[in-house]
Amino acid sequence: MTPGGVLLEARHVTQRFRLPNGQVLEALRDVSLAVREHEVVALVGPSGCGKSTLLRLLAGLTRPADGQLLYRGQPLDGVLGAAAMVFQSFALLPWLTVAENVAMGLETRGVNGAARRDAVARAINLVGLDGFEQAYPKELSGGMKQRVGFARALAVAPEILLMDEPFGALDPLTAENLRSQAVSLWRDPATGVNTMVIVTHSVEEAVFLAGRIVVFGSNPGHVREELINQLPYPRKERSPQFEEMVDRLHAILTATLLPEAEPAPAAAPQRLPPFARVHVAEVTGLLDHLLTRPDGKGPVFELSEDLGVDYDRMSAVVRGAEQLGWVTTPGEIVQLTPAGREIMAMDDAARKDATRARLSRHPLFARILGMLKEGEGSVEDEEVLADLTIYFPFIPADSLFQTIIEWGRYAELLDHDADAARLTLLTS
Ligand code: ADP
Repeated sequence: MTPGGVLLEARHVTQRFRLPNGQVLEALRDVSLAVREHEVVALVGPSGCGKSTLLRLLAGLTRPADGQLLYRGQPLDGVLGAAAMVFQSFALLPWLTVAENVAMGLETRGVNGAARRDAVARAINLVGLDGFEQAYPKELSGGMKQRVGFARALAVAPEILLMDEPFGALDPLTAENLRSQAVSLWRDPATGVNTMVIVTHSVEEAVFLAGRIVVFGSNPGHVREELINQLPYPRKERSPQFEEMVDRLHAILTATLLPEAEPAPAAAPQRLPPFARVHVAEVTGLLDHLLTRPDGKGPVFELSEDLGVDYDRMSAVVRGAEQLGWVTTPGEIVQLTPAGREIMAMDDAARKDATRARLSRHPLFARILGMLKEGEGSVEDEEVLADLTIYFPFIPADSLFQTIIEWGRYAELLDHDADAARLTLLTS
């Protein structure tokens, strides 16, 4: 689809918030963005650069401190009826059924009776939730909950879908699946959705979905760069053209984290996989539980139920165990590997040794160990945090740092001196 006329526009928008301590925070400064009909626009950039704030302004949920929001050339007056929002947190009411949750938006728009029932049935059908109308959110997986989130948005037959990290809380497989469905919904004239704006933390997701990717910078939030993405839909995630676009966007994002006056570095750092932010005990708990199951395997839904852990958390723990080579994940199944079995059979000291060997091979730990060696066995927290921010613009560096310390200490690879604010190397 070729973009049409301007549908939704922010003109020189500035937004400020008063913080509890009385200070005023400028979240956006002089942001102008025109979204055209039939476009998919992705908003990306470091955490806190005002992407969600802009999305809420575009939805008419809040008003700017300065500047204008326009829909088809007319100033926005209150909540924009032509748009519907999908949130990362699903935002479902637990005491309402799927059908009742889907009907929420219609209710507030005064659609009642048969029209409401029809719209709910149509939306539930569009997202493939038939048969679950009377279920309650707690009976649904994360992916299904987000389908309800989409159905609720689609029920009002919006022209524009505004999405705030809609796939952020889902495991990678479910996210991939729902992402493809979002593209289908947008391409299918029957849904009525012709334009989408999505806030995302994922470079791949932006490249998969968007025709235009708007990169924000922070302090205060502003538009830094735009990338046009003309790959034909439906997009293939592992094609060379796709990878090339991902690399280009990654290079732009890396550059946005460096001071604006400086030119982009000649060679942008290569992409590193982050280490899952989970505790050692959570991973060993998972392996312990898998040992009790036939063939050492089980579907991730069941594991999360058995262990009383929420599905999203369970997915993160599984990812952590997978990064260490202790489980594999064919589809929704989590399978203990021979290495996972071995480690559980070891005594504590041997387990630490084996973990140390695995961690040292993980690219992120390998990089930090490299920094420690270069620094003759010690490096300032600040240096590591700056490094993490550049490599993982979308992950809170502090939290990743804490995970690194926990695992590093457990495996007796490194230690942390909080007083000196330095990491130190334990092994050579
Ligand atoms: P992003 O979506 O890019 O992560 P946000 O738009 O959520 O960023 O936030 C931008 C900045 O504005 C952040 O510093 C955030 O803490 C602040 N902020 C957002 N909403 C509010 C609010 N209602 N009150 C105070 N500060 C807010």
